[in-house]
Amino acid sequence: MKKLTPEGYMEYLSILSQKIAGQKDYITSLDAAIADGDHWLNLTIGYSKLLDKQQQLSACKNFGVFFMQLAIFTMSSMGGTSGALYGGMYLAAAKAFSNVEAMDAEQLSKMLEVWDGAIQEKGNTVPGQKTMVDALHPAATAFREALDAGVSDDEALREMVKAAKKGAEETENMQAMRGRASNQPRKGVGHLDPGAVTMAIQMEMLADYLIAG
Ligand code: ADP
Ligand code: MG
Repeated sequence: MKKLTPEGYMEYLSILSQKIAGQKDYITSLDAAIADGDHWLNLTIGYSKLLDKQQQLSACKNFGVFFMQLAIFTMSSMGGTSGALYGGMYLAAAKAFSNVEAMDAEQLSKMLEVWDGAIQEKGNTVPGQKTMVDALHPAATAFREALDAGVSDDEALREMVKAAKKGAEETENMQAMRGRASNQPRKGVGHLDPGAVTMAIQMEMLADYLIAG
């Protein structure tokens, strides 16, 4: 895998935002089926605000400064629960990576674990409650385990994506214990969790970006 820098992260976000833009109807329908239908819009507004600042953000010298800026812009522009949780995730990562200029696989693994821990803490949730954590947690765990098993970084990224997608698929049969879907009579059973699906898309796009060239 190539090393991840703030500039590279912005390139990844730009690819990701195009991918999410192309899935408007699908993502909106997932959230509309079990909640209020704004998840696609929340992400889209958030990403567009970050990409408006692409030049400024790409110039950040280290991930401490970079993730802090992402946290501030995300919290102020991305709506809904997603905005608060993604903002919290970036804030925690800003503290954990204050002097890091480029991340290797080991640091990426730590980043996924920091994100996972921050969202669980801020969302007062654990895996199995039908949230975005159900894609992120297995992804972070699978990446850690693959690295520990000694496979190549690229192979570990592929394992990470597989685990994220499987985790998102498994939300279909889960009862929502957090978020708007938990207020539904059937607690969303029979439907995928939109936040888990978009988290899995993010993991896939990040891995694709890091594996390519
Ligand atoms: P809102 O629920 O405010 O409309 P979004 O539609 O943008 O916000 O995001 C909904 C997603 O947020 C859900 O599909 C779920 O994955 C995630 N989510 C909701 N509540 C929590 C929570 N307490 N912890 C973690 N993730 C959550
Ligand atoms: Mg919503």
